Parts: sequence; structure tokens; C-alpha cells
Amino acid sequence: MRKYSVDELSREELIDQIDSQAVFIQELLKEKEAQVRLDYPWKGNLGHWYWNVQTNEVMFNPLKAQALGYTKEELPEKVPYDFFTSRLHPDDYDRIMSQMAEHLNGSTSVYEVEYRIRAKDGSWKWYYDRGKVTRRLADGSPLFASGIVFDITWRKEKEENLEDLAATLIELMDQDELTGIFNRRSIMGQLKAQMSLSGINKEPLIVAMVDIDDFKQINDSKGHVFGDYVLKETAKALKDSLGTQGMVGRYGGEEFLLILPVCSIEAAKLTLENCRVAVIHNEFLTNEAVSVSIGFALYQGGQTLEDLVTESDMNLYCAKAQGKNCVIGLSLDAVTLDRHNVT
Ligand code: GH3
Ligand code: MG
Ligand code: MG
Repeated sequence: MRKYSVDELSREELIDQIDSQAVFIQELLKEKEAQVRLDYPWKGNLGHWYWNVQTNEVMFNPLKAQALGYTKEELPEKVPYDFFTSRLHPDDYDRIMSQMAEHLNGSTSVYEVEYRIRAKDGSWKWYYDRGKVTRRLADGSPLFASGIVFDITWRKEKEENLEDLAATLIELMDQDELTGIFNRRSIMGQLKAQMSLSGINKEPLIVAMVDIDDFKQINDSKGHVFGDYVLKETAKALKDSLGTQGMVGRYGGEEFLLILPVCSIEAAKLTLENCRVAVIHNEFLTNEAVSVSIGFALYQGGQTLEDLVTESDMNLYCAKAQGKNCVIGLSLDAVTLDRHNVT
């Protein structure tokens, strides 16, 4: 703000200047009293700010600017309002401006915001700002506002870390620890959701139970660590083979549950056959024969989740009874698809 010598100003201008200073001084004194009463060493407290809304001058505790990397010497005693607003994060700017406008026009009793502000070195700080208009002109327009500001960067970082942690935990809650695919709780939740979607949209849904053949033998001959490896690679082969056509979760042990939404019986036969072949033609085992048997069922509305799992299971037992390494759907028809004997 340009400083005038007294000789340059008219009498009216001089009176305006004095009035403006008087408003500042009056308000500062009032604030000082309040501050003494409430002088707690709150964490992150950068002190008070005072804004003459009419002249747009802002006075503040230098800490508010020093926390952004500016020295006392770099700052004038009074800075224009936009010294801070021009440094607001672009994603926060409109929200902050509209909240301030709402408060200035009297729609809200206080102005209370959290925003990111750019420090001198280009990094972002989080400030919590709370203030209010303390004096208005006779026509209601704001004359003077004051508030208090806190540097809450440390708290925001903690919050962000906690949010990341919560997201990771939620992900882990849905994941099978060994294979990384959906666990039983989560795949059953998906099945419930897909069944209601299928009911609403009147579209077919296929559920399949996949079981690794002679897995006990693999464990017994090669050990459990190797067995675990087979489980992981089988899960991966099923997931990759399904792609976006469906979901796969570990139902338990060496059993997997597959969901194929919006899928006809004919399309399911092909997709599940591809899954079966993906396991026997796997690249993860060269000297070991690993195959799966698959039983599936069609949801046509009316069945419960348990009905569907039971029907898939029955078809799986049929597949086992027919010599394993095959796909069976619809127990009534006992449709057997091409069998690929593992040699
Ligand atoms: P079938 O062809 O009839 O399915 O025979 P199978 O040997 O695959 O079936 P069975 O039910 O006899 O054996 C399943 C084995 O899976 C027994 C169990 O020890 C093993 N198993 C279950 N969970 C795990 C696991 O997390 N890791 C390992 N390595 N083995 C597991
Ligand atoms: Mg089994
Ligand atoms: Mg098995």
C-alpha cells in the first residue's frame, strides 16, 4: 500500500486514514484482551489475523507468513488480502471464497475452513482458519473481521496416512492371504450382490465351483510349500483366464468360486473350459500335472445363494465321478465337455 505524506492528502482523506487506523486500533485492543484471556499454547497456533474489509488491509501475526517460509523483513506491516488468497491451492480456492462470501453477507455466523496454501519453496501447507466479522456498518456491510489460524499440516499428514492405512486394511480384509484373490467372505458378498443385480436386470448369472484334482497327493509328494505355490498359480491362471468376464475367490482349501455375470449356459461352458485348459496348460509347472474339475449352476431367480452353491457342488462331484479334469453344468443333463486327460 502506497504511503502518503500528510501534505498530499485532503482533509477528508486524512480523516478517512485516521478513521481506518482507529478501527484497527480499537479492534486490536479488543482482540488483545480476548487473546490474553485465551492465551493457550495450542498446537499449530499461528496467531490472529485482522482484516479491514473496507480498505482490504490485513494485519496478522508474522508466524502466519513465516510458516510459509517468508522472513519478517520480506513482509510489509500490512499486506493486501490477496497475499494469502493468491497462494491458495487451486482445488480449494472456490470453496474458500464462497465460504468467506457467505460469511461476509451474513449467511453464516462464523467463517471456518481448512485449506492448502503454497509456501515460498512451492510446497503445500494445510491451514485451519476460523474467523468472523466483528463490526458491520449501519447498512450491514462488513467493516472489520478477525480470526485465528493454525498450521495443521502435521494433522493432515496423519489423517492422510490413516486414510491410506484404512484403504489398505479394507483391501486386505477382502483378500485371501495366500493367493491374493477375493477371500470367501468377499466372493460370497459379491455373489449376493450379483444375484440381486441379475434379478433386477433379468439377466442370467453363472456360478461355478472349481476344485484342484488330487491336491492331497501333490501336498503329500512335494510338501505343503509346493502345494501353496500350486494354489497361488492356479488362482492366478483362473483370474487371468477370466479377465473381465467374471470374478474368482478362494472358497476354502483348494476350492475356488467363480461368478460369471450376464452369462448364458453356452458362454459359460466356453469360458469355464478356457479356465480348465489355462490350468493344465499352465507355464508354472513343467513336470507336474495339475488339473481342476469344475461344476457350475445357472441362476434364474428364485434360488437362494445356498441353492446355487449346492447345485455347483453337485455338478463338481459329477465331474470328479466322471474322472476329473472336466467341466460339468446342469446336473440333469450332465453335460460333459471335451476332456483333456493329463499324461
Ligand atoms: P480330489 O481330486 O477329489 O479333489 O482330491 P484332493 O486330494 O484334491 O482332495 P482332498 O479333499 O482329499 O484334499 C485337499 C487337500 O488340500 C487337503 C488339504 O491338506 C489341502 N489344503 C487345504 N488348504 C491348503 C493350503 O492352504 N495349502 C496347502 N498346501 N494345502 C492345503
Ligand atoms: Mg476339495
Ligand atoms: Mg481337490
